[in-house]
Amino acid sequence: FDMRDGSLWFDGKLIPWKDAKVHVLTHGLHYASCVFEGERMYSGRIYKLKEHTERLFESARILGIKIPYAIDEINKACMEACEVQGYTDAYVRPVVWRGSEMMAVSAQKTKTHVAVATWSWPSYFDPETKMKGIRLDISQWKRPAPDTAPTAAKAAGLYMICTMSKHAAEDKGYTDALMLDYRGYVAEATGANIVFVQDGVLHTPKPDCFLDGITRRSVEALARIRQLKVVERHIKPEEMAGFSEAFLCGTAAEVTPVAEIGPYTFKPGEISRMLLTDYLADVQREKSVVEL
Ligand code: PMP
Repeated sequence: FDMRDGSLWFDGKLIPWKDAKVHVLTHGLHYASCVFEGERMYSGRIYKLKEHTERLFESARILGIKIPYAIDEINKACMEACEVQGYTDAYVRPVVWRGSEMMAVSAQKTKTHVAVATWSWPSYFDPETKMKGIRLDISQWKRPAPDTAPTAAKAAGLYMICTMSKHAAEDKGYTDALMLDYRGYVAEATGANIVFVQDGVLHTPKPDCFLDGITRRSVEALARIRQLKVVERHIKPEEMAGFSEAFLCGTAAEVTPVAEIGPYTFKPGEISRMLLTDYLADVQREKSVVEL
């Protein structure tokens, strides 16, 4: 992956992909002083670019990292990183990390670096295959409390337990894992939010200790246009027995129906199909906030 051809945006310039290196004594690598975003470009526009860039700045602010660029410069960097690769449809990964100027828990003298890489990452499945639904394991790892970790940030360190949960799930033949939170309520999957359906109402966990996904907010808005009620609340795992449909929402996952979560089964149905279709239409419709 790191020896690909092409270019990416690195500390203010477009440089060859292969030259985008960091030193092994990078603070972000040792101590996870790193925040990032995940975006998708559709037909030449990055969907919700403004929201993603704002979240990147907010994640950095929460970790006490000052991004040495303006919001507009990062928006532009995301667009240029797609453009230089000739992409009109791509996954976009901005990343911010503390450098190698000193090596200690304290990072007062480190520089903050920013890069944006883009690559081709088509939807995993076509909508009909998606409608079969994926299977999720229930993770042994819990999302931490907001006074234990900076849970509102999209911070690299929070993904350690996501990778461990995902690997444990894959080793058992599942596609992904559902994580509960520190209180035992349903939280999210390892890289996407979860939404349930019961009697035409959407139920989704209140994002008070995990990532408040931009995709889920978009899907909630689309559901309201369809006159569907959306309830954000604490959901106990045993309540999953009473839900008819379930789906994941995330930039990479888009809307992905779920057929199984541990012992609970769901039947991907009309509401999942409608919101999957509405979402795929919405991503094509959105106007760009950045003109090159
Ligand atoms: N939760 C986690 C842990 C994620 O990594 C993601 C993907 N960024 C999401 C939720 C969904 O967020 P979004 O819709 O903003 O991509």
